[in-house]
Amino acid sequence: MGAIKEVLKPTSKGYIRFRRGTDRTMMEHVVVWEKHFGKVPDGMQIHHIDGNKLNNDISNLQLVTPLEHKRIHEGCKLINGIWYKPCSCCGKYKPMDKENWYFSRGWINGRLCKVCYIEKSSQTRKTLIARGWKRYKPKANRNEDN
Ligand SMILES: [Zn+2]
Ligand SMILES: [Zn+2]
Repeated sequence: MGAIKEVLKPTSKGYIRFRRGTDRTMMEHVVVWEKHFGKVPDGMQIHHIDGNKLNNDISNLQLVTPLEHKRIHEGCKLINGIWYKPCSCCGKYKPMDKENWYFSRGWINGRLCKVCYIEKSSQTRKTLIARGWKRYKPKANRNEDN
């Protein structure tokens, strides 16, 4: 480990970087974490618990999988081993399962819980029907030019 040679401008994501003697560019939070726990395992990421990327105290750093990281930044919470996601409509935290959310290719589809989604689509349908929309359009008439 060489001494810090040069502190660089933060990355576009706001992480503190610096260059050390013989090493390539390092992120400060990675260096701090590795000092305590050893090398960051392949494919794992480090999350700033309080959301402040300048706070690289070890108590603010958490090793997470990329999936966990994505969920944390979407505002999800892990409580007793179950992930909860907030609905952008009703604001309630709901377990991330098929009872509460619609899934598409293994991922939750959209930001509305099932209840809100159903509510919203029935509202949309009512509005459309009120405007004269019919669910099944008759086939286009092909004899218009006669
Ligand atoms: Zn993070
Ligand atoms: Zn909802």
